[in-house]
Amino acid sequence: MGNTELELGFQKILDGNKEWVDFVSNDTTGRFEQLAKGQSPEVLWIGCADSRVPANELTGKKPGEVFVHRNIANMVIHSDMSMLAVLDYSVNVLKVKQIIIAGHYGCGGVAASLSRNQYGIIDNWLCHIKDVYRLHSAEIDAIENTEDKANKLVELNVKEQVFNLCTTSIIQNAWKERNDLAVHGMVINIGTGELIDLDTTFTSNDELGEVFSYK
Ligand SMILES: [Zn+2]
Repeated sequence: MGNTELELGFQKILDGNKEWVDFVSNDTTGRFEQLAKGQSPEVLWIGCADSRVPANELTGKKPGEVFVHRNIANMVIHSDMSMLAVLDYSVNVLKVKQIIIAGHYGCGGVAASLSRNQYGIIDNWLCHIKDVYRLHSAEIDAIENTEDKANKLVELNVKEQVFNLCTTSIIQNAWKERNDLAVHGMVINIGTGELIDLDTTFTSNDELGEVFSYK
């Protein structure tokens, strides 16, 4: 590669894996042999791609216990095939029971959506967060501090994405078949590690309102 810093960075990744291989080979519970055969996670996590919000560590879960989808600002966009594929597979094949949409305070994507700056192609993704702002502009504009403003939008955005998820045909059809599926909205405080429940849990399509709830 000819770039020592780059080579060292890659070597660290390989060294890190060696440590993991050691850990796995010293495990005596048999769980990794079991994991190699298949997975049956109970949780689907839809979180931000931010490097500071790892799903498993935040929930005390081990490999095999959380199915994960992450994108910038934990969005649920109805035409996002990647999200829909993850959702369909996890709900209908893996039969996950708890779905968590997790935002986090200090989210760069949310902060960017409140600015008038252009960042490139991502602006079109962030526009979906501007749509959430539009629904709650009076509440957000009433907050003076820029950081508090963004953090309020983080919470409101999570609630909106929970609603977006519940209005998908995938979730609604699953609720017609089973009553053991809950969708939660949460927000992470990176500084304390806390995962805060926003009390916006849905467990059936009764709560979605007439236009959204499919027959
Ligand atoms: Zn973020």
